[in-house]
Amino acid sequence: MELFDVYPLFDITPVKGEGTHVFDKDGKKYLDLYGGHAVISIGHSHPAYVNAISNQVRQLGFYSNSIKNPLQVELAEKLGKLSGCEEYQLFLCNSGAEANENALKLASFATGKERIIYFENAFHGRTSGVVAVTDNESIKAPFNKGHKITKIAFNDAETLASELQKGDVAAVIFEVIQGVGGLDEATTEFYQQIEKLAKENGAMIIADEVQAGYGRTGDFFAFQKHNIHPDIISIAKGMGNGFPIGGVLIDKNIAPKYGMLGTTFGGNHLACAAGLAVLNILEKEELLQNASAMFDYVKEQAKEIPQIKNIKGRGLMIGLEFDFEVANLRKDMLYVHQIFTGSAANKNLLRILPPLNIEKKHFDTFFKALKISLANQK
Ligand code: PLP
Repeated sequence: MELFDVYPLFDITPVKGEGTHVFDKDGKKYLDLYGGHAVISIGHSHPAYVNAISNQVRQLGFYSNSIKNPLQVELAEKLGKLSGCEEYQLFLCNSGAEANENALKLASFATGKERIIYFENAFHGRTSGVVAVTDNESIKAPFNKGHKITKIAFNDAETLASELQKGDVAAVIFEVIQGVGGLDEATTEFYQQIEKLAKENGAMIIADEVQAGYGRTGDFFAFQKHNIHPDIISIAKGMGNGFPIGGVLIDKNIAPKYGMLGTTFGGNHLACAAGLAVLNILEKEELLQNASAMFDYVKEQAKEIPQIKNIKGRGLMIGLEFDFEVANLRKDMLYVHQIFTGSAANKNLLRILPPLNIEKKHFDTFFKALKISLANQK
């Protein structure tokens, strides 16, 4: 059987990971400034994480959601404590798209309404409802086009107000810092306007923290900088450090009902063990503080490189913007300097999404390579 060929692949086969590095089948070492697309939070193959998963699979890897699973309760308590969101309820699932799909469904259940407002350049996933509210027509099948949705520009409070005043909006969904779209962030005033206008018009607000959440920006959640209280928060990527796990944090104003949401695999024992290990390591190794400190270091180092025109993002969710398209630069960084980086919809943006335990010396390696590579681009 052949694989369904939907991914353009780099000709590299990593077989082992350790901290901020991966190694290919020939033993070549790569610095991972991409984190497998913002997924690796605590570093590759962290010993405490490996132990937690190994021990759990020896005990019990899986049972269905029809029995008591104390690991889910422990995960919810720990997540509430570390994130400062103790007053929310947690529903566990398996991916970012599924988290957002559940978030939209919950908002629609709770308000009895259908229409969703989303923003230009948004990316919320590839399944039915969330791809409809993703700003990329090329990944929507005709089946995905029946949803009632409205797209608005970031910071356009006037259009937002007039759309919400129509009274049929279930939710406004947003990434506080856009990932795939290119690290744009609206103003605090705008996020607070979304919250106020949604409340006045009986709509919910959904913060998609699938990429920016879990400490990546230096705060547990990116929305916390803007002093807002989302009704629903979706999470996934950094949560399991590569083990598939996602979730939605649900405000107490949304009451659960049996059968409202459900999943076979979501919140299984093994996923919870991975999730708990991640939270313990984030706390013990003070990785949120590290994300903030490393961002300061990157900003300082980037000043020495005149080709970098703008630095976007926060913490370890960074976009370095050049005045040329970076596709060749990325290839050079990977094949010549063995450094993984990411791309964005904005073709001039080099995305940096490393494990949160990255150190200054790794960025020194990166900037040294970047200078050589930039000199060779001409
Ligand atoms: N939301 C955001 C902000 C994302 O960046 C992504 C993935 O890149 C998703 C949702 C979808 O997550 P998944 O690929 O786990 O379905």
